[in-house]
Amino acid sequence: MEIINTIPEMKLWSDRARESHKTIGLVPTMGSLHEGHMSLVRQSVATCDFTVVSIFINPTQFGKNEDLDKYPKDLESDTNLLESAGVDVVFAPSSAEMYPEGYKTFVTVEGITDHLCGKSRPGFFRGVATVVLKLLTIVRPHTGFFGDKDWQQATVVETLLRDLNVDTTIERLPLLREPSGLAKSSRNFYLSREEMAPALSLSRALDAARQRVQNGEHSADRIKQEIRQTIEANKQARIDYISVCDPENFVELDEIKDKSLIALAVHIGKTRLIDNCLVRRVECKE
Ligand code: AMP
Repeated sequence: MEIINTIPEMKLWSDRARESHKTIGLVPTMGSLHEGHMSLVRQSVATCDFTVVSIFINPTQFGKNEDLDKYPKDLESDTNLLESAGVDVVFAPSSAEMYPEGYKTFVTVEGITDHLCGKSRPGFFRGVATVVLKLLTIVRPHTGFFGDKDWQQATVVETLLRDLNVDTTIERLPLLREPSGLAKSSRNFYLSREEMAPALSLSRALDAARQRVQNGEHSADRIKQEIRQTIEANKQARIDYISVCDPENFVELDEIKDKSLIALAVHIGKTRLIDNCLVRRVECKE
């Protein structure tokens, strides 16, 4: 496995792979890898000739008071994991490599970024869209792998590629959870033992909501109210948003329709966690 830190070297590697008619899969990550990331990596290794995993903690997607400085890093353990999974290249550029002095260009995807995480983290999706487009331009993968853990992000990336005619196909993979139900996330490393129970309330609340919808509940308000109550039963939990929305444009719904997204962002102490699930409307039998 090669570790590449510069853009010219990465481009050269990709040029050579393309010249030899090999397919390239790219898994963009911010490192501190867990099974959620590895599910994307394994899919790429299984379906593409070559797999590139980028590890880059992208400063442009963090707000001023967010966790850029303390975001977990463990490059050695990450590279060991990736090597044993059969990855060909780890692309780990520095911030100065990606955003040298005088850097001026940012990409924005409009409308769908006004909701959910885009609303509570201004500038977040501008940073994500910019870095993803840069990574795709540098690595030129045939397929990019993204997780539904970050549902809105995957949709923003799909929209960006469609609108800017980028020749990379996006493959989305399901959200992976701990046996406890907690959505796997690098930010789970921040959670103290006391914060585990409140953190688990997110997936518990979503499970209960899914069950309610399956039993015929259609009211988005009632579903959100129940989720709120489950989460707010924990003192350490501070809700950022609870949304029942259209899974494609993230506009809030009054009623569950066939395919609705329930999405949450909750602060547990200093850690912001997100989770989501897709639900389908069930008509009540008379
Ligand atoms: P991150 O390192 O958090 O930027 O995540 C990199 C990629 O891994 C993104 O496409 C995420 O959606 C995906 N990912 C992170 N956690 C999970 C998870 N629990 N299940 C599936 N995919 C995930």
